[in-house]
Amino acid sequence: MEVAYNKHYYAGSRQELVAKIAAELSDFRFRHVLGVEKAALELAQNNGVDLELASVAALVHDYAKEKSDQEFLAMIDACQLDSDLKNWSNFIWHGVVGAEIIRQELGIEDEAILNAVRRHTVGAVNMTRLDQIVYVADYIEENRDFPGVKTARAIAKNDLKEAVAFETSHTLAHLIANEKTIYPAAISTYNAWVCGR
Ligand code: GDP
Ligand code: FE
Ligand code: FE
Repeated sequence: MEVAYNKHYYAGSRQELVAKIAAELSDFRFRHVLGVEKAALELAQNNGVDLELASVAALVHDYAKEKSDQEFLAMIDACQLDSDLKNWSNFIWHGVVGAEIIRQELGIEDEAILNAVRRHTVGAVNMTRLDQIVYVADYIEENRDFPGVKTARAIAKNDLKEAVAFETSHTLAHLIANEKTIYPAAISTYNAWVCGR
């Protein structure tokens, strides 16, 4: 489905936005982004979220993923973001710092879109429906293939919040099984969405 852009979240057409994103990303990641848009549009339709908002947020969510560490570190300084971010890496920067890069390079100023980008990797205690859609679409899009993805897709068809909880729980379990550092906000997301506290 191709959404017509007329609300000016982005100054150009969808096709122009897609071209800018394609120029920033490897073929592999560009395909992922198109898959996230498709999944996000379905979720938006089922959950009463504006399709243009979902399309733009999904298309830009990994816009900054292939930027260099130097670029992220410079942006943290330039935008005076929390300096603790410097202790982390691409996995957290491409969303939280990526939102500022998207604002600068794509001229997207809508905070609902930028927040969905900021929250797409580790979620947040409070997530709007748009945030939930991008978070879940990123996990279930058609190119993803991992144990549990079919269950995640089935849950997402019926209950968006339940899908957020499933994804949060499984991602955290996976990170722990692989002895990865857990970003503190990921634990807050887990407590709020999986344990209800
Ligand atoms: P992608 O950008 O489409 O690959 O997906 P995400 O933005 O959801 O995740 C980016 C990467 O961050 C994935 O490899 C996740 O496993 C990883 N990740 C998510 N949360 C954490 C965390 O708390 N700690 C660590 N170390 N990695 C994480
Ligand atoms: Fe991402
Ligand atoms: Fe992604």
